[in-house]
Amino acid sequence: MSAAPLSQVIVIGAGVGGLSAALRLARQGYAVQVLEARARAGGLAGGFATGEFTFDAGPYILLDKPGLEWAFGQLGISPAALPLAPIEHIYHVLHEDGGTSAFDRSLASTAAGFEAQHPGSGARYQAFVAKMTGIHANVQPLTFHSHPSPWLLLRYGALGSAPFMLRSLASVLGQAQLPPALQASIGIWTHIAGQPMSEAPAPMAFVPGLFHGVGAYYPRGGMRAVPELLEAEARAAGVQFRFNTKVKSIVTAGNRVIGVETTDGEHIVADAVVSDAAGIGTYVELIETTSKTDAALVRRLAHQREQLQQLPLQSPGTCVYLAVRGARPPYYIRFKLRGHGCTAFVQPGLLAPELAQAGWLPARLISPLAHADAARLGPEGQHQLMAEQLAESWWREGIQEYRVLHWRTTFEWGRDYHLYRDSMNPVMTSRLMLRGRLAHRSPTVRGLYLTGSSTHPGQWVSFCAIAGVLAADCLAEDFRPAHA
Ligand SMILES: Cc1cc2nc3c(=O)[nH]c(=O)nc-3n(C[C@H](O)[C@H](O)[C@H](O)COP(=O)(O)OP(=O)(O)OC[C@H]3O[C@@H](n4cnc5c(N)ncnc54)[C@H](O)[C@@H]3O)c2cc1C
Repeated sequence: MSAAPLSQVIVIGAGVGGLSAALRLARQGYAVQVLEARARAGGLAGGFATGEFTFDAGPYILLDKPGLEWAFGQLGISPAALPLAPIEHIYHVLHEDGGTSAFDRSLASTAAGFEAQHPGSGARYQAFVAKMTGIHANVQPLTFHSHPSPWLLLRYGALGSAPFMLRSLASVLGQAQLPPALQASIGIWTHIAGQPMSEAPAPMAFVPGLFHGVGAYYPRGGMRAVPELLEAEARAAGVQFRFNTKVKSIVTAGNRVIGVETTDGEHIVADAVVSDAAGIGTYVELIETTSKTDAALVRRLAHQREQLQQLPLQSPGTCVYLAVRGARPPYYIRFKLRGHGCTAFVQPGLLAPELAQAGWLPARLISPLAHADAARLGPEGQHQLMAEQLAESWWREGIQEYRVLHWRTTFEWGRDYHLYRDSMNPVMTSRLMLRGRLAHRSPTVRGLYLTGSSTHPGQWVSFCAIAGVLAADCLAEDFRPAHA
């Protein structure tokens, strides 16, 4: 079937996923209009000004430089356009029993630290990192395909890695025979999702290989520099942006998209829509069926919605935005473990001292929360939790003074960033890994494409940029630009 002509693509949402999709499509000659509910672009990865500082609202670390560079390559952006500072002293973990573990960019010094604390563990950690780096190299090409599958593993000669991909992080770490404290520290990125390691997917074990290998980075200008660059490139490529424009529904007729309706009641005709709004929310809240929609599509959508609503959700957690006097070097992130969860103290001033304003530096106290716990606590409970964590002494060592500039509960994240049920995306469990994330090309509604953190390859900022490229490419297989 030859691709149908398309006069306009609507992109819902100017997060990293939406910006990347819009730019990719504009570069290929499509007329693209981005409708963004907020007053600015960037979504969760955008900047947030409070007090004398502009903070990164959500993300704080780039763990996947190669992935971001791949996306930039596809989008015609030179890597030099985003200067990156490597992070030497990446994170430090305070365990519940008072023990600590620390991760540097240098594998040798990290392993030496482990060896001193847990004799025998240094060599085992090095062997673990080498093994994970090898498996990651095998499976990495799947990151850049819209439909990762066993066939692709076969094509890349990596079918042997399939059983690994289906395991849980706990089983991978257990096999590495590392002491429990080190397992918990390596799995810290799953604690951020408030998720037990027994449910987290095995690829989370690639993270140490990434930061000891290619390194972990902080972009000059903060993580928000990523969406700022994407927006500037998209504008230059002709993408039209409309801010303060919230989409109420994606309107369907027959088995396909025919346009969108904004909350102001405006109807915009479009045969193709790329949604960077929450993946589950797109299906559950945005797609509108009418008397002109096929009965078969209505039935299939009802089934799909039921399935999607069963997925566990990932909460953005709480965040206290701080001005601090002093710093606690050398670790950029300090985690305090709490059962399956943790709190993170993030100090961008250690990487960018020029952020100082009259001796004060920005810092954040971030507390991931399981989605159900966040709902159970309610706004008051979350404020109380943040106040209790602020009162703890572990993060204040080296800090002479602090001021709270802003408190953000999960409910405020939800309201301010238009999240689906105050969540960022479905939690990436090993079960979801098996089933696959939400598809870039809707399996039910023709002309609907999804990008962003609910889609493959996942929620990191780099992954959302890749998802934008992949979603745009699915659209380009189905439609050609009307004026090309
Ligand atoms: C606290 C926190 C820490 C994080 N840490 C890291 C990290 O260190 N490293 C990392 O790589 N990632 C991190 N992340 C994850 C990362 O920031 C996100 O996954 C990513 O930014 C999401 O991008 P997105 O394109 O999926 O969507 P979003 O950023 O959610 O953007 C979607 C956009 O769509 C708009 N929108 C929604 N509905 C509508 C509608 N109906 N009409 C119009 N517009 C709409 C929203 O306003 C928003 O601007 C973190 C996230 C948080 C919250």
